[in-house]
Amino acid sequence: MSSVTKYIDCPNCGSPNKCLSEYSIHSKSEYRLCYECGYTKDTRFKNTGINEENFNPYGTYTIIHQYNIEEVGGLSSENELDYLISRMQDDFNIKAIIISRYINGKIIKYDLIRQIKLKKICSKLGI
Ligand SMILES: [Zn+2]
Repeated sequence: MSSVTKYIDCPNCGSPNKCLSEYSIHSKSEYRLCYECGYTKDTRFKNTGINEENFNPYGTYTIIHQYNIEEVGGLSSENELDYLISRMQDDFNIKAIIISRYINGKIIKYDLIRQIKLKKICSKLGI
């Protein structure tokens, strides 16, 4: 086995066992992503000297497709959320997009699709 995957307590939001840690023995690199707040750490010890850590991410997304296939990723900024929305607009196989964010010491989760539909209804009603 050349890599070790484990879940650790998040150093940003403190969620227990929600931060994925992938360590490659071969390249001596480690990648971390917290599924709750979007905290990331990218450490590559060989040659590159890359050691980046994002303690102030936008959040994470979980895309739930038909037949419950899930896709999880980090969002480093609001621009990435806008890009995600533009990419998803015409995909009718998506049932929900759960956005998870760490705001004022709490994990906040909401369904992006439901929120977009609600905004469309509100604008039609003039609210
Ligand atoms: Zn976290």
